[in-house]
Amino acid sequence: MPGIYVHIPYCVGKCPYCDFVSYVSPDISHEEYVKCLLREAEIRSRCLPGTAFNTIYFGGGTPSLLSPELISRIIATLRELFPFRWPETEISVEANPESVTGLWLKGVKAAGVNRLSMGIQSFSDRDLEALGRPHDSSCALRALDKAVAADFSRLGIDIMFSIPGQTMRQLEQSLLTALSRRVHHISCYELTAEPGTRLWHEIHSGHVALPGEEEAVKMMDLVENTLVRNGFVQYEISNFSLPGMECLHNMNYWDNGEYMGLGCSAVSYINGTRSRNTASLRSYCSALSQGELPVVFREKLGREAAFRESVMLGLRTLRGISIRHMKERFGIDPVRYYGNRLEKFISSGHVKKRQDRLMLTREGRRLANSVMSELI
Ligand code: SF4
Repeated sequence: MPGIYVHIPYCVGKCPYCDFVSYVSPDISHEEYVKCLLREAEIRSRCLPGTAFNTIYFGGGTPSLLSPELISRIIATLRELFPFRWPETEISVEANPESVTGLWLKGVKAAGVNRLSMGIQSFSDRDLEALGRPHDSSCALRALDKAVAADFSRLGIDIMFSIPGQTMRQLEQSLLTALSRRVHHISCYELTAEPGTRLWHEIHSGHVALPGEEEAVKMMDLVENTLVRNGFVQYEISNFSLPGMECLHNMNYWDNGEYMGLGCSAVSYINGTRSRNTASLRSYCSALSQGELPVVFREKLGREAAFRESVMLGLRTLRGISIRHMKERFGIDPVRYYGNRLEKFISSGHVKKRQDRLMLTREGRRLANSVMSELI
C-alpha cells in the first residue's frame, strides 16, 4: 500500500531536542519551494509510470506554515500525476498549535485533507517551556478546539513524556485533557536526546537531566493504562487510536511497504531501493531547477537486509510479524534465522510467539531498543 511523504522544512523556531530538517529563516520562499517540490513529483512520475498510491502525508518541519492554497496545489498536482484509490485516500497534515487558525483548517479541509495531526506535546506550561516549544497550554487548547470544530474524519495529537522536570501528575493531566476532547489518535513519544541537538549538549554539560529509566518506564505504564482504559487501542509502541482509526500512512511504513518521499531530506523506498534527498534547501532547489532529482544517497537493500528491517519495523507494532508472511516475502523463516537469540527473548518474557506471529510483550516494549539492537 504505497504512500507519498511530503516534507515541509519550515519552522517558526528550532526546538532544542529536534533533529528533523527544518529552516527558521530560509532564503527560499514557500512558493519557490512548492514549485520545486512539484517539479520533483513530475520527474518521479515519469520514473514510476502507473504506480498507484493510497496515502499522502505532509510532515515537517511545520506543514501548517504553508498556506491552504499551496497545500491544495500540491494535492491537486499529485492527483494529476499519480493514480490514487479515491475517495478513500488518507491525506494527513501535521500542524502546530501556534500556526493554526480556523481559516487555515477550513482551507486545508476543502483541499482534501482528511486527517490532521497536531503537535501539542503537553498541556502543561512548565513542560512546554522545558521543551522550548513556541506555544503555551492555552494556545494548545484553543488550536485543538478549533481542530475539533473543523470536524476532520481523523484527528490526532502528539504528546511527549520523559520531559526534564515532568511529574507523573503533569503527564496524566495532559492525557486526560486530550481525552476530554474528541480526538481519534494519540501518539506518545518519549523525549530522547539526539546527538548534536541543543538538548544533547545541555545534558552532556550537566545543565539538564532527563528522568531516569525507571521513571520513564513508569510514565510509559501510565500512558498505556490511561489510554487503553479510555477505549484507545495501542497498535504501535508509541501510537494509540480509537478502533479503526490507525494512521494508514504509518502502518504502511511499519509493514516496510514502499513510499515515495518528496521535498528536501525526504526518503523514498521503492523497488527495494532506499534513497534520500539532500537536506540543503538551496541544493534541493538548485538540482530541480536543472531538471535533476536532488538525491544524495541511494542503496539497494539485499533480501536479508530487507528481511531484517521488516522484522524490526514489524515488531514495533502490537500485532508483530507473521512468520508465514516473512517466509513468503523473503524466503527466510525468522524463528530459524534468529535461533537462540530469539529463544532467549521468548524465555525472558520479552517476545512471545502466538501461532503464526511473533510480537513484543509489554516488558519487551519497555526494552524495545535493546531487544531490537540484539536482533538487527
Ligand atoms: S516544531 Fe517540530 S520540526 Fe519544528 S523544530 Fe520543533 S520539533 Fe522540530
